[in-house]
Amino acid sequence: MAPGNKSSGILEKVLGYGYQIHPGALKIIESLEEEKALEVLSSFPEKFPEVIVIEVGHVEKILEEKAVKKAEEPKEFGEFGSKLNGRITQIYDGSGLIQRCPKCNRWIIDNFCIVHSDVKGVWDLRIKARFDDGKEQCTLIFKRDVTEKIVNITLEEAKKLGEVATLERIREALFGKNFEIEGVKLKGGNFLVKDIRVREVKS
Ligand SMILES: [Zn+2]
Repeated sequence: MAPGNKSSGILEKVLGYGYQIHPGALKIIESLEEEKALEVLSSFPEKFPEVIVIEVGHVEKILEEKAVKKAEEPKEFGEFGSKLNGRITQIYDGSGLIQRCPKCNRWIIDNFCIVHSDVKGVWDLRIKARFDDGKEQCTLIFKRDVTEKIVNITLEEAKKLGEVATLERIREALFGKNFEIEGVKLKGGNFLVKDIRVREVKS
């Protein structure tokens, strides 16, 4: 999704849930990464069943609780929600060594944020990839930690290599193998990868 569509997309979802939203609260949610924003939104009905207007305080409460929960997450393989087996068939644009806006965390190019204009971009690593388990396809999202692990590269090393060579390393690491993937299904068909490993296939 183009960055420009995200804001209206979030508001649409809020209204779709049957809520109204305080502009301040909307601003906070819009400043989050897409998957996080949707996570926050989807936890509203359960968390605040009586609320009609989403206020800043509600959003902050959910974010606080999520931060606590994240710190307690178990690290062992096999402990996260859903599991997938299959192959990565395509790496999407915007994968690899990227820059983010220091103010809103959006993916930016050439130190220009669509909201904050000229900024000094912050380097990050991520992968968006198409995954096929033989029956269904979905889009995998890898954040920096999981990207570093599966590609066996650090952000610092990637910065030295540059964007093109980093993307090449990602392709080498991900294509032509079977993977076992642990993660969380996100709304909209994306899958946030929490752990990934090469799967031994009996021949
Ligand atoms: Zn920005």
